[in-house]
Parts: sequence; C-alpha cells; structure tokens
Amino acid sequence: MTHNPIKIPLVDLSLQHQPIQTKIEQAIAQVIQKGDFILGQKLAEFQSAFATACGVKYGIGVASGTDAISLGLQACGILPGDEILVPANTFIATIIGIIRANATPVLVDCHPETALIDLTAIETAITSKTKAIIPVHLYGQMVSPNQLLHLAKTYNLIIFEDAAQAHLAEREGYRAGSFSQAAAFSFYPSKNLGAFGDGGMLVTNDREIAQKMQIFRNYGAPQKYLHTEIGTNSRLDTLQAAILNVKLPYLESWNHSRNLAAQYYNELLDPLKAKGIFPIQNQSSSGNIYHLYVIRVTEKSPINRDLLQEKLAVAGIQTGIHYPIPCHLQPAYPNLGNLGDFPHTETLCKQILSLPIYPGISNTQIQQVVATIKLALLTVNC
Ligand SMILES: *Cc1c(COP(=O)(O)O)cnc(C)c1O
Repeated sequence: MTHNPIKIPLVDLSLQHQPIQTKIEQAIAQVIQKGDFILGQKLAEFQSAFATACGVKYGIGVASGTDAISLGLQACGILPGDEILVPANTFIATIIGIIRANATPVLVDCHPETALIDLTAIETAITSKTKAIIPVHLYGQMVSPNQLLHLAKTYNLIIFEDAAQAHLAEREGYRAGSFSQAAAFSFYPSKNLGAFGDGGMLVTNDREIAQKMQIFRNYGAPQKYLHTEIGTNSRLDTLQAAILNVKLPYLESWNHSRNLAAQYYNELLDPLKAKGIFPIQNQSSSGNIYHLYVIRVTEKSPINRDLLQEKLAVAGIQTGIHYPIPCHLQPAYPNLGNLGDFPHTETLCKQILSLPIYPGISNTQIQQVVATIKLALLTVNC
C-alpha cells in the first residue's frame, strides 16, 4: 500500500510555537547578549518557576530526562546493587537511568486496563534489597499517589517519580512530582513542555537531595575546582531554559487543549467498544494531561493493530506505538526477564496505538481520524 503525504501528524509543534515565536527569539537574544550560557540567570529563573508549578521547593536542570533519573536516584542515596521496582511497561530511558545509577531494575507487570504499574503485583517483587519504587506516569496519567504512599510506608521504600510524560498532571490532589522524594522530568521537544533540543529536571522538596544534584551535574564540584563527588557534566543550557521559561505559562492551557481533544476522542470512539477498540482507561481523567492518546485494538476487534495503523497511514494519518517492544525483550537487556514474564505488558505492546494529539488539534481532524478508523473496520477484508 502506498502512503499518502501526512495530513494529520501524530504531533504538530508548530501550532504552539508560531504565536510565541517573537517572545522566544527575544529570550534567546537576551541570553546571547548576556553570554551566561552555562548555569546562567534564565536557568535559575526557570528552575524556580517550574518547581513552583509542580508544587515543590527545588528544581535542578540537567541535560536530559534520562540524566534526571540516573543522577536523581544517586542523589536520593540509591547505592550500587539496590533493587528498584519499575513498571515493565515503560520507555527504555527509565531502565537506563536505573542501570546508570548502578542499581538493579526489578520489573513489575502493568495493569491491563490502565497500562500503569500494577501496584497489587509489587509484593511478590519485593526483596530485602528493594530500596525504591519508580512509578512512571505513562501517557500523562498518574499512578495513584495515595496507594504509592501507603506502599512506600509499609515497605519502607523511596518513591522516585518518572514524570517525563506528566508535566502538571494531577491525581488525588497531588501534582506529578510533588509527593515523592524526587521526580524526573524531560523537556524532549515533543513532551508536553518541550525545549528546542534535549533537557531535563529533577524536582524535590528535600534540600539535601537538591544540593547533591547540583554537585553531581557540575563535575561533582560544590565550588569551582573542588571535587567532592564523582560527578558528571549534565546541565540544562541557559538557552533552553530561556525558551522553556517563555513556554511554561502556556503549559496549563496546552494541557487543557489536549484534555478536551481526548474527551472528544472518547466520545466519538465510544461506539467502537463493542468492536473491541477502546482507549486506555484512566482513573484520573480530569488530571490526565494526555501526553499521548492511546487506544487498544484488542483480540475482539475485526482488524488487528498493525493493519489499522497501515490503513490510517494510507489515509495520511500518522500514528505511533508507545512502545512496540517491551524493555525485557530488548536485545541489550537480557537480564530483565523472558518472554511470558510480563503478560499484560506483552499483550499491550501488540494492541496499543497512539492517535494524533497535540494542543490545537481541531475537532474536524479528530473526526477524520475516527471516521478513518470506522472505515478501516468496514473494509477490513478489502
Ligand atoms: C522521554 C522519557 C524519558 C527520558 O527523557 P529524555 O529527556 O529523552 O532523556 C524517561 N522516561 C519516560 C517515561 C519518557 O517518556
């Protein structure tokens, strides 16, 4: 089948950048003029503004979300050999962050409906070496803070949030990043708050963790040329921080726009439930920031996921799969588990499909996506 040019992309960042382009250019010009490219004033401003937006005291900008996880875990006191519970259904960077911190990832299957870590399955994964749990607020929906806090108390675990897909998400009155020892955010361009390149941040209420993180990201130096830790070089560029500072005030309205788009998808897709196609269920729909809008094409559907994706592509509708191969079946990680170990995750990988969603996506576009899915179902044998 031939693919037509993309009519509806999975993500369209130009819609959010066009109206604020002049402001962004001015912010960049200010940094160039000042010349404080590393650990400059705009970084300090953005760290403080983003931490406040998350409802926490400290923000420490780093080079990526992955670094926020690996350095952040070390700042939380995770030591080599410590075991960390982590959902099997996550982006590989969560696992990379743990391994870079010299800790051991212990995978836990996801809940089949929410795609989030199944907290009822963690007890069997806990050993005497278990030190922390990393909830991943996947697709923009949060793992229950109350349940996590209860578990952490029962088993004396550190909670470290991977909030890379959950900027300003909320559940049970908590903002993502605000109820744990520390949380990692990513500013990869397509995230809900994205830089013009790579970037990340650790947020925390703990002054000691914040201080350690500042030292780790800057060659392990609390002051110039004094190295008290084996640190690294991982700082959020002042230029990126200046851009993010311009974008941050719009984040809430962008998230709201995504949420409205998701509600409209939910409404239009509702009749397809009978055909085995439905969105990932979430308990926190009002606080869900819909980094992705993910549907499941289950075994009850007359069309399989890959064929549906193909038919949408032919119609010029771009979709994604987040993620097609589970972490424990990736060639680089033979020790995370074997085929069959995390059945819900493995099933989801075959069923999930991310539909176009971004701030400013129009109702007409959403109608087109859903109409194309319905047509694909009707013409499945053609
Ligand atoms: C994007 C992402 C990361 C990694 O962030 P980078 O900035 O790309 O390093 C980690 N975890 C999750 C869940 C992500 O989506």
